Amino acid sequence: MTGLSSYDLAGLVEKVREHTGGEVDRSIPALASADADLVAVALVSVDGEVAASDDAGVLFSLQSAVKPFLFALALADSDGAALDRVGIEPTGEAFDAIKLESGTGRPPNPMVNAGALLTASLVDGDDVAERDERILRGLSAFAGRSLEVDEEIARDEHLLGDRNHALAHLMRSEGTLTVTADDAVAVYARACATLVDARALAVMGATLAHGGRNPLTGERVVSAAVARDVVSVMATCGVYDGSGRWMRSVGIPAKSSVSGALVLAAPGVLGAATISPPLDERGTSVRGHAAADIISADLDLHAFGGLC
Ligand code: GLU
Repeated sequence: MTGLSSYDLAGLVEKVREHTGGEVDRSIPALASADADLVAVALVSVDGEVAASDDAGVLFSLQSAVKPFLFALALADSDGAALDRVGIEPTGEAFDAIKLESGTGRPPNPMVNAGALLTASLVDGDDVAERDERILRGLSAFAGRSLEVDEEIARDEHLLGDRNHALAHLMRSEGTLTVTADDAVAVYARACATLVDARALAVMGATLAHGGRNPLTGERVVSAAVARDVVSVMATCGVYDGSGRWMRSVGIPAKSSVSGALVLAAPGVLGAATISPPLDERGTSVRGHAAADIISADLDLHAFGGLC
């Protein structure tokens, strides 16, 4: 995509500031005290062009925006066998619904908490420390720079994530989770606590959009087949029970998160990321959604846009 670096992101940020609705998540202290006025956007094309708004270097925790990348690493490390352990159908329910696939006891899909607890347990590593290390290394390769974990957020997510502990125990009882419930929550919590900025998250999205190759470093992070599987599931389940509405209006596979981050992957074109903490009732950033609507229209990125 040529001319991306001249896209008027300052104008876009001003436009989406007019959307004042939504509530900041209060599940852990770091999220409750997030700056509700922060709005940052970054775009990275598959040929390495970057556009970033003023605050695109402000750090925030990935939270559920990590889920596509955990799924990617689990698929890569299991040679695709992760697909036998987790479903890929949308739930139409909230991110932390206490619900497993009927008949199999598998988590419904990798974009909800049950699925991400499971995929985080499938990455290479014999114990929590080895899986933590593998995930941080993998996420850093997606981002094209060394990422770090916010230890306080990781600890709070681990301690306060009662529903995640419940989901992990439920999967243990079904025999679908093979590590201990506490180990599963610890690894997932730490992955959620990985710090990125909008620019790094856009590079991560661009790596998926580029078939698994990081467009800035040139590193092949996962295979094209893995990237295709991940982006497909983002398209159908990435915005939880708002995924249908999202695909209709934005038309770009994406993943939302309680920190107010969104990561988007427009196959073969670009990756994008937005951060704005106030969330709608389905856990999607209000201003992020507005920004994605505008970016999709301006750059003609809707997957089915050719129909009109
Ligand atoms: N850390 C959050 C949790 O597991 C992530 C949820 C989200 O971002 O939607 O509760």
